[in-house]
Amino acid sequence: MTHPENNSEYKGLQVNSGVSSQPITNPYRRPARRRQQLSASEYVEGILKGNVSILGQAVTLVESTAEHHQALAQEVIEKCLPYSGNSRRIGITGVPGAGKSTSIDVFGLHVLRDGGKLAVLAIDPSSERTQGSILGDKTRMEKLSQHPDAFIRPSPSAGSLGGVARKTRETIVLCEAAGYNNIFVETVGVGQSETAVHSMVDFFLLIQLAGTGDELQGIKRGIMEMADGIVINKADGDNIERANLAAAQFRNALHLFPPTPSKWMPEVVTYSGYYELNIDKVWDMIDRYFAYVKETGYFDRKRNEQAKYWMFETINEELRHNFYRQPEIRALLEQKELRVLNNEQSSFTAAHDVLRRYFTLLRNK
Ligand code: GDP
Repeated sequence: MTHPENNSEYKGLQVNSGVSSQPITNPYRRPARRRQQLSASEYVEGILKGNVSILGQAVTLVESTAEHHQALAQEVIEKCLPYSGNSRRIGITGVPGAGKSTSIDVFGLHVLRDGGKLAVLAIDPSSERTQGSILGDKTRMEKLSQHPDAFIRPSPSAGSLGGVARKTRETIVLCEAAGYNNIFVETVGVGQSETAVHSMVDFFLLIQLAGTGDELQGIKRGIMEMADGIVINKADGDNIERANLAAAQFRNALHLFPPTPSKWMPEVVTYSGYYELNIDKVWDMIDRYFAYVKETGYFDRKRNEQAKYWMFETINEELRHNFYRQPEIRALLEQKELRVLNNEQSSFTAAHDVLRRYFTLLRNK
């Protein structure tokens, strides 16, 4: 083909005729195949063998919101349940910058010295907004992420806090079935997610800092009440004295709290995650707690309570989900919202109208 640019009048660059390309660059290449979906028994078999790749896929399945994934995930969880439970579940919380990831890295290596395996999970209620969680991020736990016996997983990001927490709870079951006998659940110590974490762990550790003025400020009283242990991080260099002072203040404050349901008196320990100081003191406290609650029977009582709690939580979550998913209910809610805002109807009668419509919808299904 002659290009107009190749005309002798044309002053620009010449265009040469190209080389025609082959229809397929590599005729032997196999067409891309989608990864085959494993069956529930294949997942379970892989998990029980401790296959990390299958465990990871199963967790992804648990986190998926697709209904057919959920059905499969529930079957896998149900089958793993008899193999779960044999672990220490430890919740770790603290405000951003308190040193959670630095500490988890060191705590993790500490527990792995005794053998066994460790799973680090996270609950981050803000992750939905920020598109992806930084908690439980492997890059924050440098040493642990290279350890063959550590499984690190960031927070599930989709859904409400209740939904996210439920997924983490289910992931704990899978990890335990895969032989992870230490479970850390990390969360940010700023809000409601602590209650969710508290309801799935045996021991709740609060990481605090010294030298931030009023030591008890910025930490919600409720979070302190949930703690089985308070640890003051960054007790190194010039900061040691302030850390000791903060520890004394926390001890005093704890005395004013009502006794914990376990009757265990929460302890306060100072340490340095970065310089790895007093790590054994922190773990000595945790070991003693476990010995104590196993002896008193509180360990099993609490786990039973938690199992019950999660049954009701799941029911509530599913009911809410089902309610708000109905297109007719959504439309009616929009109308009612306007009426309530314009003072044409009270909040209560509006709510009852919508609920009545929902129950009628259910009956006619
Ligand atoms: P996170 O946001 O709670 O996960 O906190 P990080 O673990 O990321 O730590 C926040 C900052 O505090 C980092 O710059 C750490 O290097 C520093 N840090 C953590 N632990 C210690 C410690 O024990 N001593 C000192 N001096 N700094 C620490």
